[in-house]
Amino acid sequence: MNDFMKEQGKPRKAIVIGNSMAGKLAARVLSDYFDTVTIIEQDPQPEGPYPRKGTPQSYHTHGLLKSGENTLDKFFPGIMQELEGHGGERLDFIRDISWVYQNFHFVRFNSGFEVVSQSRPLLEWRVHQRLLQRSNIEFAYSHRVVQYISSPGENRFTGVETENLVTRQSERLEADLIVDAAGSATKTPDQLLKHGFDSLSQSEVHINLAYATRMYERDPSVSHDYKSVIVFPNPPEVSKGGLTFPIEGDRWSVTLVGYGDGNHPPRDDQGFLNFAKSLTHPHLYDHIKSLKPAGDIHVYRFPSQVRRHYEKLDRFPSGLIVIGDAFCRFNPVFGQGVSIACLEALELQKVLQEVRTGKIKAEGIPNAFHKRVSALVEPTWMTATSDAFLYPNTKGKKPGGLGFMQWYVRRLYRLSEYDQDVYGKFIRILHMVEKPTELFKPAMIYKVMRAKMPKPDKRTPGSPVNRDREQTL
Ligand SMILES: Cc1cc2nc3c(=O)[nH]c(=O)nc-3n(C[C@H](O)[C@H](O)[C@H](O)COP(=O)(O)OP(=O)(O)OC[C@H]3O[C@@H](n4cnc5c(N)ncnc54)[C@H](O)[C@@H]3O)c2cc1C
Repeated sequence: MNDFMKEQGKPRKAIVIGNSMAGKLAARVLSDYFDTVTIIEQDPQPEGPYPRKGTPQSYHTHGLLKSGENTLDKFFPGIMQELEGHGGERLDFIRDISWVYQNFHFVRFNSGFEVVSQSRPLLEWRVHQRLLQRSNIEFAYSHRVVQYISSPGENRFTGVETENLVTRQSERLEADLIVDAAGSATKTPDQLLKHGFDSLSQSEVHINLAYATRMYERDPSVSHDYKSVIVFPNPPEVSKGGLTFPIEGDRWSVTLVGYGDGNHPPRDDQGFLNFAKSLTHPHLYDHIKSLKPAGDIHVYRFPSQVRRHYEKLDRFPSGLIVIGDAFCRFNPVFGQGVSIACLEALELQKVLQEVRTGKIKAEGIPNAFHKRVSALVEPTWMTATSDAFLYPNTKGKKPGGLGFMQWYVRRLYRLSEYDQDVYGKFIRILHMVEKPTELFKPAMIYKVMRAKMPKPDKRTPGSPVNRDREQTL
């Protein structure tokens, strides 16, 4: 089975840097093509579904989109059911979420578009358990990659040098393919320069976003007509938002977010509640005000979203690819990072399959993979960037057609208050199970042009019309 480049007659090895979601997914794919896959992770061996130092975002609410669920189920059959069995909460993403954005309160109806909501640590832990069942995947915990090794005169990386964080000793590990899944701590841009390659271009949009998350107790005997609440900002006037999702252990994961100095959520008890109260709609505050906290408030600063243009480099060493947040790191509020990593892993699988069938050469892996990943992240990058520039303090290069995009999307949000077809389509695109081009088909353009926009001065946050409709569900 593991016949990748077998013609050279020796066991094939792959290294993955980083044992987070992108690294785990890459390892899952590589294990079908390489004899040994070694995941190098700076954190110690995990002992359960708990947050860890190398992934501080794991304290915060993590949504998994439908495309991510579908891919995980493909790589690890039955895993979504397993997550539900461990306390993940199944919800209809349209019926069960009360979602206000830009003061538009989206329509709710039985859609059958279901996802499972769980904490990030549980998701990562269950995926980890599946990897442990694959005999050719091994782990080097408490090892930090310090640099890449290239063979003299060759346009190729051949391994990595690590520091064992327990013994403080330096170790070398060779591989036929190295996968950089180290997230924002990626060493690839520096290592390329150090090994004589051109400097990498990157797109960076400074959003100055901050997160604060707290768990609350959830009484399963108390039912609401919703299972989740999202109150997103109404930029440029209001740059604060928040959300809550039910997770395992009968808890609510409550996250508050704010863009720009002066809008960052605080970490003290009363400040947290006051912030929730200051949002454009009272639903989130009303939901949490009487709940009992089940943990501390954790904060996270997210200065910018970054996209690295590996696909544009004329010269790139063979033997190395970059995946996950190390390639492109999005504003996390739309919950796309893990699902994008899933889709990138699918692209990796396709590329390796093409090598196996002789369609492309092993040396062509980085070029083929980076081009596909770049095309994959492009629409999400564009929509995330267009959204980012609604906030007054966002800095960076504005994409072409920004004004039109923002105008069009705002009308889509307005339509999503009352048009089930439009909202259903919007949700499927958000979940990356349909292409964004669907939004620009003639029937949709017609609806968008005819959308009746509210007069700004007559608009109050969370229209009573929608609140009434919610109550009748
Ligand atoms: C606040 C916040 C909220 C988020 N919410 C969501 C959400 O709701 N939904 C969603 O899909 N995504 C969300 N994301 C994004 C998501 O967490 C990431 O996209 C996802 O974890 C994939 O990232 P990754 O695996 O590429 O990198 P990371 O998760 O950053 O992991 C990198 C790994 O590499 C290890 N590492 C780093 N350097 C080295 C080294 N030199 N040697 C060895 N090991 C190393 C780290 O310890 C870590 O384990 C959120 C992100 C943030 C910051």
